Amino acid sequence: MTRYPHMLSPLDLGFTTLKNRVLMGSMHTGLEETKDWNRVAEFYATRARGGVGLMVTGGMAPNSEGGVFPGAAGLFSDEDIENHKIVTDRVHAADGKIAMQILHAGRYAYGPDCVAPSAIKSPISPFPPNELDEEGIEKQIGDMVTAAQRAQMAGYDGVEIMGSEGYFLNQFLVVHTNKRTDRWGGSYENRMRLPIEVVRRIRKAVGPDFIIIYRLSMIDLIPNGSTHEEVVQLAQAIEAAGATLFNTGIGWHEARIPTIATSVPRAGFAWVTKKLMGKVGIPIIASNRINTPDVAEGLLKNGASDMVSMARPFLADPNFVNKAKQDRADEIAPCIACNQACLDHTFSGKISTCLVNPRACYETELQVDVVSTPKRIAVVGAGPAGLSAAITAAERGHSVVLFDRSNEVGGQLNMAKMVPGKEEFHGFVAWFKTMADRSGVEQRLGTPATPDDLRGFDDVIIATGVIPRDPEIPGQDGENVLSYIDVLRDKADVGKSVVVIGAGGIGFDVSEFLVQQGPSTAENVAHWKEEWGVGDPEVTRGGLADQGSQPEAPAREVILLQRKAEKVGKRLGKTTGWIHRAALKMKNVQMMGGVNYERIDAQGLHVSTGEARENIRLLPAETVVLCAGQVPDRSLAEELAAIGITAHVIGGADVAAELDAKRAIDQGVRLGASL
Ligand code: NAP
Ligand code: SF4
Repeated sequence: MTRYPHMLSPLDLGFTTLKNRVLMGSMHTGLEETKDWNRVAEFYATRARGGVGLMVTGGMAPNSEGGVFPGAAGLFSDEDIENHKIVTDRVHAADGKIAMQILHAGRYAYGPDCVAPSAIKSPISPFPPNELDEEGIEKQIGDMVTAAQRAQMAGYDGVEIMGSEGYFLNQFLVVHTNKRTDRWGGSYENRMRLPIEVVRRIRKAVGPDFIIIYRLSMIDLIPNGSTHEEVVQLAQAIEAAGATLFNTGIGWHEARIPTIATSVPRAGFAWVTKKLMGKVGIPIIASNRINTPDVAEGLLKNGASDMVSMARPFLADPNFVNKAKQDRADEIAPCIACNQACLDHTFSGKISTCLVNPRACYETELQVDVVSTPKRIAVVGAGPAGLSAAITAAERGHSVVLFDRSNEVGGQLNMAKMVPGKEEFHGFVAWFKTMADRSGVEQRLGTPATPDDLRGFDDVIIATGVIPRDPEIPGQDGENVLSYIDVLRDKADVGKSVVVIGAGGIGFDVSEFLVQQGPSTAENVAHWKEEWGVGDPEVTRGGLADQGSQPEAPAREVILLQRKAEKVGKRLGKTTGWIHRAALKMKNVQMMGGVNYERIDAQGLHVSTGEARENIRLLPAETVVLCAGQVPDRSLAEELAAIGITAHVIGGADVAAELDAKRAIDQGVRLGASL
């Protein structure tokens, strides 16, 4: 008897049956643009082998004006069809099913040829769109129909029509972006015409035995967005036009409310999908921040949806479904919703991968093969770098001993998990521990490794991490000065007014920790919605309520400082930095750049400005917290070198600058795979 009977039950679509209720949602990985079709095919086939019921590709442009960026992938020629056939054949050979997403970006297309219902520029693009005339609209419909026909020729099991997230079809639906007065604008019946027409004509072109998923915006989270009544009206019309499944879209890309970041509660938007249940006859798929089989099973059991969509969790672990089926859910590598290696890469023009699983999108390059001659390997440091190296090496058959002076594994991840909104790190550390145990890594915790302990191993890996940088500020030895370690790990007493020195990832984390009063909203959907101003689209258009009516006042007054004169938080994650800034602003944190630190005394921190260090003034504070970055801890590596033992140095012990778990894990896995 499985623990996940609902998630693992098949779904009969009439002409075909999905083997379970799990959809791998669309992700733009950048793989298609590499034109390395073996690599693309292996990415999807790996996930098909992992047991997922249905996959959706990254968005494919129906034409050049609708591509998310110039050169975005699409099926434009016979050669493209043949290339995509490599992918679909490999997926089918692995007993998988795959649908191609048709993504017309409309005014979100990053180029001067972009088109839209009205010539209104979006706040997230520099390009004002060209307003389409009747002929232009007909061309867009025709191109989307052609894309679906080509997908069918390429062997896809279906298509997903992207109708949400503020893309082209969504732009026609609401007066926020559609000011037309012809038959494509004005009344809601007119504004709905385009998505309905697209689905109707695609169904006519592809015949009855082809999956059409319509990604429906359940809640727009923008001013003048759709009401729930309008969403239902559209859904019923789309069903009548021939859709097979509804997938959930949450929020336009220009919305100022986080929808998938780690601080969004798990399944935080399932309630809005549930509203549609019973109002249409075809199955409905829930989405956003679903990342464990237990969450998925709970939603299906409670009737929130008929299927669940998970996207990033399939980067973290392609074997998600099989592991759940085999009662090995605790071995599923967790997606911690950090966006650091997936979406942040996409938006920087890099190929996506995963912080937790560096093999994602590198399946053909980064192999973890069993060795014929096992070695004895010592790893010092059970942080993300050391754990990744140890587990990877042990999985290959090596005999691995892992040393750490702490009694628990996880290193700095144990501090991250204390930060409100980073609760996913608890599961991440637990997963590392499980994998170290199951892969047979011998763990010698609670005792520092000495050079003598490390004699006789075939390989020694030093992953001893970092130590805080000394900012050399006069007065920093005072009793009112703490380091981030004192605050996050050792729970030191902190005053009611605080100055935080250093506004990198850790300065932001510490500030969020210090202003939090009571339990984190990331674990309470109702409180989180209140904090971010998410309302009910049955009551308020687009589901926008008053933002910032947070239930709890900040626990402390915090000033967050950096020396650089640039915007504070500018170097945080591309897709998440704005969320951290907005969260701190809601808690009245003052952020200041361009200051020099003169001295600390019992009154607080004295700062000046400019090269001449003028305008010296006091920032009064009961406590000053140092978050001034880190330097490598290489002391053990140096001691080893002195007695002639050469070690591999990885993670923060190698390079501390801009160290994060992504680089540490990548380096650890790659080293473990190479020994
Ligand atoms: P960091 O990102 O390098 O930031 C260090 C901060 O200290 C900067 O604000 C820097 O700004 C300041 N600083 C540098 N040298 C200083 C000095 N001598 N005196 C005073 N201030 C100084 O380092 P971190 O905050 O320790 O974070 C470490 C790594 O963990 C980073 O790579 C970070 O991305 C990662 N991390 C990521 C997250 C996340 O949410 N993704 C969270 C936590 C940590 P100025 O030089 O302008 O003063
Ligand atoms: Fe999830 Fe982070 Fe991996 Fe992206 S990089 S898939 S958000 S764990």
